[in-house]
Amino acid sequence: MAYCKNCGKEIDDKAVICVHCGVPQSSVHPAQSNNPDAERKATGAEIAASILIPIVGVIMGIVYLAQGKKKAGTTALIAGIIAWLVYYVLILGG
Ligand SMILES: [Zn+2]
Repeated sequence: MAYCKNCGKEIDDKAVICVHCGVPQSSVHPAQSNNPDAERKATGAEIAASILIPIVGVIMGIVYLAQGKKKAGTTALIAGIIAWLVYYVLILGG
């Protein structure tokens, strides 16, 4: 006997849709489908943020450096570079 991954009620092993709540069931190893990180996809907001944050960080860094604020500029540039790495992990790695 399998259990619905949405409502948790008992459903037939071969059921493709839960008869209780109507949520489609994946047929592969129900016990392993509880890992939210396994098939995580980047959302639109995450994609937008991961594109905008590095650009803003680099621009802020350049502005700060141009104003002679070396520490703030360096921090902003590093933050922008880290955000780029996050972008590559989220978008290209996912
Ligand atoms: Zn259900």
